[in-house]
Amino acid sequence: MSNNAGLSEHDMQAYWMPFTANRQFKSNPRLVVGADRMHFTLSDGRQLLDGIAGLWCCNAGHNRPRIVEAIQKQAAELDYAPAFQMGHPKQFELASRLAKMMPGNLNKVFFTNSGSESCETALKMAIAYHRARGEGHRTRLIGREKGYHGVNFGGMSVGGMPANRKMFGNLVAGVDHLRHTHGIEENRFSKGQPQHGEELADDLIRMCELHDPSTIAAVIVEPLAGSAGVILPPKGYLQRLRKICDQHGILLIFDEVITGFGRLGTPFASNYFDVEADLVTTAKALTNGVIPMGAVFAQDKIYDAFMQGPDNMVEFFHGYTFSGNPMACATALATLDTYEEEGLLTRAAELADYWQDAAHSLADLPLVKDVRNLGLIAGIELEPIAGAPTKRAFSAFMQAYEAGLLIRTTGDTIALSPPLIIEKSHIDFAFGTLRKIIQALD
Ligand code: PMP
Repeated sequence: MSNNAGLSEHDMQAYWMPFTANRQFKSNPRLVVGADRMHFTLSDGRQLLDGIAGLWCCNAGHNRPRIVEAIQKQAAELDYAPAFQMGHPKQFELASRLAKMMPGNLNKVFFTNSGSESCETALKMAIAYHRARGEGHRTRLIGREKGYHGVNFGGMSVGGMPANRKMFGNLVAGVDHLRHTHGIEENRFSKGQPQHGEELADDLIRMCELHDPSTIAAVIVEPLAGSAGVILPPKGYLQRLRKICDQHGILLIFDEVITGFGRLGTPFASNYFDVEADLVTTAKALTNGVIPMGAVFAQDKIYDAFMQGPDNMVEFFHGYTFSGNPMACATALATLDTYEEEGLLTRAAELADYWQDAAHSLADLPLVKDVRNLGLIAGIELEPIAGAPTKRAFSAFMQAYEAGLLIRTTGDTIALSPPLIIEKSHIDFAFGTLRKIIQALD
């Protein structure tokens, strides 16, 4: 079989690939044609260890029988149900089950189709919530530098990834950003949560002084930022942010698109850090990455604020054709069954020490600038090549691919976030392979 899996060069032209160097890719395509548990099968028949759970989403690994069966059954039973003014039982069952998993008062669940849509939904909910309570002046949104909240206009605007923003003009008005917590010298090679930088949360106080807190609707952060290169919250940072939000009536939104569903060894990062946000965005591993779906969790008080007018009115003018669609709900329910039956929501905690030791075994390599880890996530930051940022990490990505390991790189950081069914032998292979590759990089 050729690398193109039987596709001609002509066949390769129409598809405009997302977040990909299209011309480079099409000259040397990397195609997967199958997947099972921890591995992808490539078009040339080789196996690739999935070190990143697809894109941080296939937490139970690939080709899981319960999920496959649930999809087949659902397609034959009820393929689609209108999302507005109609319902189907699995939406209610899934929302109820999810609400029980999420700590605190986050008992209301709104369905979307992706992480980006979850972020847009949460931002709109926050603004509309204040308006419903007679505080329509609270419209300002605060994000954080290096934050990633998807690619739609709201999420891109509160996000802080320069490359993702620079092509798109002025973005949404009335947005400001906290500083990020990356690159604090004393935190280098910290194991787990770093010690230094809690006070960076006080940037929110500065925002309040600058803009007046009564103009601020919400602050959105990833409890642990994945896409910008695995940036962990300093100890105490999230608690401090929560406190400042409470003092000023600002809603706190946690973007748990990556950290949701067991990644840190607890169902959500909210459990791990023991901080309760007002709104939590999720997607990805909600359906094990198999069918697009996202969910926003809202505190009861937020839902209740919308439920005030006449009961025949639409309370929230927002939703998607595929919100809570039956195929996605059936997939999510089967995914939760799989997570629960196999203990996957806590498995990252069981493996965390082994994973941490394996990740930090790379710390002695001269080209490794930092190693960061928590749960089953690791970031290996490489020394950048002067004038050519990202080049060294991309070269590591290509070599890992050749060696049978799928990683993700962002900037100069290699990110790993494997399916939670990973075994120690896979961990050894992943970090052993990376060691050889990084040693040989120039
Ligand atoms: N938020 C976070 C924290 C993410 O990591 C991502 C995706 N990597 C998104 C939002 C966007 O999700 P999607 O690609 O499903 O729109």
